[in-house]
Amino acid sequence: MKIAILSRNPRLYSTNSLKVAAEKAGHEVDVIDYLKCHMNIASSGPSIFLGDKELNDYDAIIPRIGASRTFFGTAVVRQFEIMGVYSINESVAISRSRDKLRSLQLLARKGIGLPVTTFAHDTRATGHMIKLCGGAPIVIKLLEGTQGVGVVLAETAKAAESVIEAFRGLDANILAQEFIKEAGGADIRCLVVGGKVVAAMKRQGKEGEFRSNLHRGGNAAVVKITPQERATAVRAAKIMGLSLAGVDLLRSNHGPVVMEVNSSPGLEGIETATGKDVAGQIISFIEKSAKVTSTRTRGK
Ligand code: ADP
Ligand code: GLU
Repeated sequence: MKIAILSRNPRLYSTNSLKVAAEKAGHEVDVIDYLKCHMNIASSGPSIFLGDKELNDYDAIIPRIGASRTFFGTAVVRQFEIMGVYSINESVAISRSRDKLRSLQLLARKGIGLPVTTFAHDTRATGHMIKLCGGAPIVIKLLEGTQGVGVVLAETAKAAESVIEAFRGLDANILAQEFIKEAGGADIRCLVVGGKVVAAMKRQGKEGEFRSNLHRGGNAAVVKITPQERATAVRAAKIMGLSLAGVDLLRSNHGPVVMEVNSSPGLEGIETATGKDVAGQIISFIEKSAKVTSTRTRGK
């Protein structure tokens, strides 16, 4: 097969790992900086170009769209879909996953366990939000944050009110969540490929830190997940419509709760922690799935 990895940087661990795995399986692979592509949105003969080169002979694409480039990146993925090229994650599913609140609403609708999550624009709701979350301590989040930036633990109702006031001052919407204390500053990342959890790791925040992000000094180790955790991760990926997903869970007193679902999960942490060839599994899944007819939404 001929596979395009849509990534801005061929030197990124995940991009390189996918390229090496695809080449090892005998495929031809190009890493394409999707921001350098332009497309012809034509009814007859829709096409896409990189400079003056037409990209018309790929069997499959692997999107690695940066969170800040979702708009243009998903337009590129959609163009490939319209042309009948298989994408491991479709543009609609990527867009859906990038809206964290919409994702939580979709998961809630299907009965997936979540931390109690409240959302508001107006600070007059603050008192009731804190109450709905079970009282302080609560977690307050900036929706746009990544890697744990903009995630605050407010120990008391007074602190929660101050943080919410501050976020309001920034004109941010307010997301307040039940604090899952019993998770002990750890979360579980499940890597789902084609409806199966192919690897799972536990990330533990550094001493005194409730956020487990590796970028915040957390560390990762292989973990054995329960059947309920496995089923939750698989269902969450399915609800989002993602064939490749990183599902983050917390171990709560009321079972596994989903924090978020990533459409471009990083491979370095999980391959290193588990010793598994996740990239190889992704390529095998593409081999089974990439038929012209299997692009479900065709960019709808
Ligand atoms: P980001 O998307 O920026 O990583 P998250 O919402 O995933 O932000 O939060 C970062 C980390 O903070 C999580 O991985 C988890 O360890 C911790 N955390 C977030 N929300 C909660 C919560 N409601 N209860 C307990 N810990 C939480
Ligand atoms: N690469 C990030 C991660 O898996 C997330 C990217 C996304 O928003 O999908 O941690």
